[in-house]
This record gives sequence, structure tokens and C-alpha cells, in this order.
Amino acid sequence: MYTVIKDFKDRFDGGRAYKTGDTYPRKGFSPHAGRAEALAINAVSKLNRTGGIYLELESAAEKITCPVCGKEYKSEAALASHIADKHPEPIPE
Ligand SMILES: [Zn+2]
Repeated sequence: MYTVIKDFKDRFDGGRAYKTGDTYPRKGFSPHAGRAEALAINAVSKLNRTGGIYLELESAAEKITCPVCGKEYKSEAALASHIADKHPEPIPE
């Protein structure tokens, strides 16, 4: 998944307008292979006629680190249950 970093209209998706901060592609739409990559680099191509950078790759899994032991979790909920389970004592400031 990509994050939109510059507004654009997707001519491959009926001119759908993407705004900065949106996720690309939208739910239910599968762009051509290479389209998202083309929009994330500064190069003119068939799939990116302006050559502008419109997208930024989201890290595959946003990681949250346990402040106590440094283990990584994919969600706040997973980290919260880890802390409740493994570090029941309050974390010293
Ligand atoms: Zn921990």
C-alpha cells in the first residue's frame, strides 16, 4: 500500500481524485502492475506521464516497540496485551 503525498487524479480509475494522505490504491481497485511504483518515483513513463512523485510506500507493517523490552508488535492492541501479560508492574518514568 502507498500513501498519497501529492494530490492527483487517477486516469486509470475513471479520474478518481486522490488527496494527500489517502491510501493508494483505494479499496476495491487494482491498478495495473507497476502503476503504483511509477507514481512513487521521479521519472516520466507510460504509467506516470508527468513524472511527479505522488506516492510513498507504506512500510509493510507499521511496528510498535515495547518500551520495556523492545519487542515489536503490529498493533497497539497487541502491544497492550503483551504489556499486561509480560510487564504487569508499572513502567518507571
Ligand atoms: Zn515487552
